[in-house]
Amino acid sequence: MGIVVAIVNQKGGVGKTTTAVNLGAALAALEKRTLVIDLDPQANATSGTGFPKRGIPSMYGVLVEGHDIHTVVQDAGLPTFRLAPSSIDLVGADLELSEIDGREGRLRVALEIARDEYDFILIDCPPSLGLLTVNALTAADVVVVPLQAEYYALEGVSQLVDTVDRVRETLNPELEIGGIILTMFDERVNLSRQVADEIRNFFAERVFETVIPRNVRLAEAPSFGKPILMYDVKSRGSEAYIQLAQEFTRRLEVVIQ
Ligand code: ATP
Ligand code: MG
Repeated sequence: MGIVVAIVNQKGGVGKTTTAVNLGAALAALEKRTLVIDLDPQANATSGTGFPKRGIPSMYGVLVEGHDIHTVVQDAGLPTFRLAPSSIDLVGADLELSEIDGREGRLRVALEIARDEYDFILIDCPPSLGLLTVNALTAADVVVVPLQAEYYALEGVSQLVDTVDRVRETLNPELEIGGIILTMFDERVNLSRQVADEIRNFFAERVFETVIPRNVRLAEAPSFGKPILMYDVKSRGSEAYIQLAQEFTRRLEVVIQ
């Protein structure tokens, strides 16, 4: 059975999508069968792996219309790397789903028939704690939270932890916080180091040892529709995500046993 990982932070621009795409590709490069599900109407993981933001079958059809997830999954450029695209239609999904019975469990049900085809399923969530993110949390085994190493990094984290607790109590008793990933770290900046220390004091061993540096190649790669591994494999960003993938498999294979 694949491990389902929700990449969540309601704060915008903290590196959720960059992590979903690049950790996903790095796991695939380690020959893990990996599916990235784009659950954000902005569809940045979709365009960032080279697919259009509209006009192809997307998670909208799966969540709202109940289509088989196999009908949307695309090959994403490596032998074991797949993407389930989002589309702009998902903007309306929160509202449309609110009318449907079992609205929080739509993704969980959709994944039942696909879970055993993968080692890892990473879900890229929108910057909100609405119904799409609740669907991801209900489907997930673990939550991974990217935090940007900057002053307000912890702002909103208690609300996020409350949401995880609420989903655990009502919809998904097995849900665990699998780890915190420090992103956009700039070692030349004192503040980055101070914030990283503060986050490590707060979350202790839950913080991944691997830190993702601020690296311009990571910011450029999406405009070429490629994960960093296929854009500039020798960059620091690429090395960091490969290292993260190694740590990730070590940690999460233990969490789940
Ligand atoms: P949203 O909440 O809008 O979905 P997000 O949390 O998914 O945002 P990203 O889209 O991954 O965040 O990153 C925000 C911006 O920062 C993007 O332009 C991305 O290319 C850039 N970025 C992310 N990580 C890094 C990094 N390590 N180094 C440099 N730029 C980065
Ligand atoms: Mg995003």
